[in-house]
Amino acid sequence: MLTYRAAPVMIKSMTINLDYFQKLLEDEKVRLEGELGTIGRRNPDAPEDWEVAKPDMNIAASAQDEVADVDEEFENRASVEANLEERLRDVDKALERVRHGTYGVCPEGNHPIEEARLRANPAASTCIAHAK
Ligand SMILES: [Zn+2]
Repeated sequence: MLTYRAAPVMIKSMTINLDYFQKLLEDEKVRLEGELGTIGRRNPDAPEDWEVAKPDMNIAASAQDEVADVDEEFENRASVEANLEERLRDVDKALERVRHGTYGVCPEGNHPIEEARLRANPAASTCIAHAK
């Protein structure tokens, strides 16, 4: 599954296979948008923002326990959606760094981010020492 190219891209003093990480990020973006599409929809006024659809259940207002179930389901979706959206933002920011040639560089001192860290999380924006 891991494929290496003969001529990796040079970034400052560090050598990482940029194409490889870009592919990982693009694949994750597609997957996240797919998952978001199943529980919500894009805000037409703010394409970066996603909204959670209220679960589509036809229930009588008198059935209080079912109303509670729907509310709970909605809360679950909202929390899953928030996590997916946050991750998608991180992935988008990482793809932007790829485009700007700053991917894999820790902004806290302009040193390389450990490759093992990028493998564990291709959207990591800092090295291990500078992680929040
Ligand atoms: Zn750092």
